[in-house]
Amino acid sequence: MNEANGSDPSNRPTIRDTSCSCAVNRRGFLGASLGCGAYVAMALAAAPVMTRRAFAQQPTGEAQLTTPFARVEKIADGVWAVVSVTSGGDYTTVSNGGIVAGTDGVLCIEGFNTPAGGRWINQLAKELTGRWPDYVVLTHLHGDHSNGLEGYLRQDGGPKIISTATTRELMAERAATVGAEPDAMGLINANIKTVLPDGLIPAREERLTIDLGGRSVTLRQRMGHTPSDLTVHVDSPRVVFTGDLVFNGLFPFYGDAIPSRWIEALDDLLDDDRTTYVPGHGSLASRENLKPYMELMLHTAEAAKRAIANGVPASEAWQQYTIPESLGEWGKFRPDVYRFAFEAWEKELRG
Ligand SMILES: [Zn+2]
Repeated sequence: MNEANGSDPSNRPTIRDTSCSCAVNRRGFLGASLGCGAYVAMALAAAPVMTRRAFAQQPTGEAQLTTPFARVEKIADGVWAVVSVTSGGDYTTVSNGGIVAGTDGVLCIEGFNTPAGGRWINQLAKELTGRWPDYVVLTHLHGDHSNGLEGYLRQDGGPKIISTATTRELMAERAATVGAEPDAMGLINANIKTVLPDGLIPAREERLTIDLGGRSVTLRQRMGHTPSDLTVHVDSPRVVFTGDLVFNGLFPFYGDAIPSRWIEALDDLLDDDRTTYVPGHGSLASRENLKPYMELMLHTAEAAKRAIANGVPASEAWQQYTIPESLGEWGKFRPDVYRFAFEAWEKELRG
């Protein structure tokens, strides 16, 4: 596809790749997908003060705006990061995201945790850039990144919501299984409409470049946090929106993980000292800042593999797990968050 949006081709940014298939309906499903956001929100509300303090983030970019649920940091002209702050108990956005603008187009990253969150960033993009978003990139299926997509929808049909084809499939599957009753943990809000992406990147296309006018953004397919993750790369300045492949200061969520692929993705992703990384949760970071995160992932991997080698089931092994003090303090969004990591490794290695 060379033209990304329909109504006014002369005034639309172009996608320089042919990998985007747009013939799907994004408004058809009712229900909500359960993602790590719901867990994050609930657990941070109940977390002890020390844990929440550990996850409290400090601004690293130029402060642009602060709300009870997020702050907006300007990384460069036309590039803003949204860093969600859940410590106050407001879960409007929960995940991080951002806004990237060129001369001909505006792209937002993530749908956030609620329709109110989506509406908020949609309006913010208009205020900061002078135009409504042309694109929204959804990095993966989880609800804290996708539940708010509805908030972007406009009468003119925009913006185009981009994800991998696999992510859309997974979202549709989960939306179809949401019942009218809350799940056992009371986390699913069945009143939230699942908006399915309409700009799909097929599995065979490793990357997609979008020209916003004087600024290119490249979307790259990866996997590990989920079976299909996207990272969003801005060329100038060097900024990567990592989605939930990176958690900064919070133990990562492995509920849909393929852990060996996750580590491979991080090896490839965290390779540039000049890049500003915008994680899925937590503060902006440099490669250097994220070394403890990578070490944590490897440490967890070793512990899980050792348990498997010793015949200790994940259901027991996670309860023995502790993070070395040398890796710093990592918030836990629920008391049994390690369990998901050990179960994911067990599932991958034992089948
Ligand atoms: Zn996630």
